[in-house]
Amino acid sequence: MTRSHPAPRHGAHAGSTVTVRAPAKVNLHLGVGPLRPDGYHDVITVLQAVSLFDDLTATVPATAPGTSTTASTPTAVDQPGSDTSTGLEITVAVTGEGAAGNRPATSTPDVSIVPTGLDNIAVRAAHLVAEAAGITSARLHLALTKGIPVAAGMAGGSADAAAALVACDALWQTGLDRATLAELAARLGSDVPFPLAGGTALGTGRGEQLTDVLATGEYYWVFALADGGLSTPAVYAEFDRLSEGRLRSGPTPADDVLAALRTGDPRQLGAALVNDLQPAALRLRPALRRVLSTGTELGAVGAIVSGSGPTCAFLAAGATESIELAASLAGMGVARAVRRAAGPAAGARVVAGAGTA
Ligand code: ATP
Repeated sequence: MTRSHPAPRHGAHAGSTVTVRAPAKVNLHLGVGPLRPDGYHDVITVLQAVSLFDDLTATVPATAPGTSTTASTPTAVDQPGSDTSTGLEITVAVTGEGAAGNRPATSTPDVSIVPTGLDNIAVRAAHLVAEAAGITSARLHLALTKGIPVAAGMAGGSADAAAALVACDALWQTGLDRATLAELAARLGSDVPFPLAGGTALGTGRGEQLTDVLATGEYYWVFALADGGLSTPAVYAEFDRLSEGRLRSGPTPADDVLAALRTGDPRQLGAALVNDLQPAALRLRPALRRVLSTGTELGAVGAIVSGSGPTCAFLAAGATESIELAASLAGMGVARAVRRAAGPAAGARVVAGAGTA
């Protein structure tokens, strides 16, 4: 691992702030192999970053956590929390998708609510940057503005983790290179390296080994968001149940999607979309069948469950068609909300504060 130089304390002063924007993903191809003895699955996946974003603003608070103005004046949809488990004192506030403030409290854990303690993956990312840079003492406030739906198969948590890596590196001026950030990302989770990189990529292994793919053109997506989330481990468990007794040699190869991406033709890409997790997601959420068929009837050239679901992703023939599709789909009332996005989008990058000269 490379470091600029050991830095027991960071170079940022109170009030320093950095905002990083990170994209959601859609799996154009998700081939899943059989369950391995270690409990994981090999995958062959083609990922595209799309223009649905989470913004993470990292700030060095002016006063002690818990008394800082940012953490103590939450809006109705803020969800402030704190992690003071080490020499790092980190507070978190969430607005937008997954904020708890506008939900009724329930006795069972809700996968579609974003945690605000150490279990928030952005907090874990901040810890990793501190460790890699030798920072043992720091105060930090992370404000997440979530546009990516939570537990929705669009890797919103992973986007936040990638954003936190970039933000902490910029805020603390730790000078970690891109390769080191990618290494930290892979330690946080197999889906984290991709939102750091953005674009369109082939993922192998557990999905974390990324290779750039030759993709031409711009693609116009419409996403149908569902009420509530789906737990990724639960969808994989259902996949294992459904595949029991069937001989599967390995994950389905992605040749058709890769060939379609070279042409830049959305119709060809739409016809080539594959998601091996889709039958499992549909078993757990039968209502998604109707969402998929509605999008197809309304003219989508491709329709697929995004990752582990329950978001449904529709590929439109072009920009105008995506506007029409989104409006018609919203009018059908089959989704909690409908969002348009274009791909490929850039990876996590500083949009305000340090480094945006
Ligand atoms: P996957 O990356 O497996 O496709 P997903 O897109 O379906 O996941 P995420 O939005 O990443 O789902 O959230 C998965 C779980 O991670 C949620 O249940 C949530 O409780 C937890 N989580 C931890 N940190 C975050 C975060 N910063 N944002 C969203 N969820 C988070």
